[in-house]
Amino acid sequence: MTRQFKIQKILAGNSGSNVVDIPHLGFLRYVKPDEVIKQFKEMWGVEPQGVVLPVSHPEGLVFKVSGLDEPISPYARVSDRLKEFSDVVHAFAQKGLDIYLLINPTLEFIRAAPLHIVDISGDSSHAVCVGNPMSRAIVGAILGTGIDIARMATKDTPGKLVGVVLDVVNLFPMGAKNGRLELTCFCPSCEEWFETHAPGLLRNFRTFPNPWNLLLKDAGTGISFIDNVRLDSTPEDIIGLSRQKGFIEVFKDKANDIPYLREQASLLLKYIHARHEQVIASVREIFEEALHGLEQKPKRILLVEGSYYGWTSGLMLEDLDREYLDKVQSEETRVPYDEVWFDPASTDIFLTNVPFRSYMWRRARYFIDEFLRTVDSASDPVKRASTGIARFPRMAVRALLRQRLHQAIGAAMTGASTLIALPPLKSEQTRSKRLGFVGVALTREVGEKFIEGVKIPEGLAEEQLGMNLADLFEPLLKGRLSKEDKEKN
Ligand SMILES: [Zn+2]
Repeated sequence: MTRQFKIQKILAGNSGSNVVDIPHLGFLRYVKPDEVIKQFKEMWGVEPQGVVLPVSHPEGLVFKVSGLDEPISPYARVSDRLKEFSDVVHAFAQKGLDIYLLINPTLEFIRAAPLHIVDISGDSSHAVCVGNPMSRAIVGAILGTGIDIARMATKDTPGKLVGVVLDVVNLFPMGAKNGRLELTCFCPSCEEWFETHAPGLLRNFRTFPNPWNLLLKDAGTGISFIDNVRLDSTPEDIIGLSRQKGFIEVFKDKANDIPYLREQASLLLKYIHARHEQVIASVREIFEEALHGLEQKPKRILLVEGSYYGWTSGLMLEDLDREYLDKVQSEETRVPYDEVWFDPASTDIFLTNVPFRSYMWRRARYFIDEFLRTVDSASDPVKRASTGIARFPRMAVRALLRQRLHQAIGAAMTGASTLIALPPLKSEQTRSKRLGFVGVALTREVGEKFIEGVKIPEGLAEEQLGMNLADLFEPLLKGRLSKEDKEKN
């Protein structure tokens, strides 16, 4: 007699409707659609019901978008069989998989400087800011064009387009220099938002120390942060968290000045709430632009980190759940999303109003997107020539890519046993509204092959190969780490 144990029962009832995310079409050069499905089955014990495909890459578009003359990614043509985006959609839909389209709205390939993210000290980066109405129009047009292509490609297939995903994990990258925090974004559009919704607020952040220092700290190699800001957090709670972590010491002689600290904490909460509202308004506009005029609208999905407050998404996860209650109101005030995806790693958060899926990667797409961005800056001749990477020979660049890949792979959550710990699936017996999980089609093997295939243009320092690799690496790693990485507490 074969006996059944509790975990088998939990597993059988705990996987739900699941989806596989393919973060970059270039991966499909090394793993065919059939193999993606097979690997998912091997890893999770169930077959995926849907597939997530990107409608743009950091290095360019994956199809032509009318009105945009931005570059087309060299990976848009995956192979001789998958010549264009519609072929990729068709290949999966033909196998009966639901289609989800994903866009990361930071669009690093857009050269228009006025759309770029600006930090508090005025320095800009390659990523575009969703606070800018023109950026939102561009993101909407790319996603909308992808929707039209996917609908055409799935006309006669069993699988159909069912969802569109906005990857808002890293809209506002953070950096730090000499203990000073450099948060983004403070482009003219963002400043205007704050001036309208919280007049005079930003002035308090253009000094040191400022309210951010309560919950953020320059750790030398990145930013340490506190992210358990709850919906009902009071200024006293914020001060308590800061004291517990020792961050409060930066305020020196004012670290015991309670009225002063309380004021700083309430300014910080004001900032957090205003930023949240700004992102929600931007999300609403992007989805409206991408979906307008469609009779059958795909589900609108937000991809965020599974923490109470996402410093780089600007969103409070609990607030996403609360706002869903607005659904009884008119269309204009209803929340602009139908589902949320987030990783289950850091907390035991589950949503009780909005349907959600667990994204099986620590910090959701954060490290995966960072890896893909590094591939882009290493292979783009302009970015390679205009960034720190310019000083490094090919060998060092490839080593950097490997380091980023390993960092990303290290954040993967794998194996059926991790499914046991997920919040319960939506049912009569539970308040949780979880529908299933999202696995990612990135393995070490695929990643290594992908890096091997990346064409790296010559840097300025090909002749410096005699130098010690560590010497070459140091300034580059330091620069990037302090700018983009964060140490998770
Ligand atoms: Zn901005």
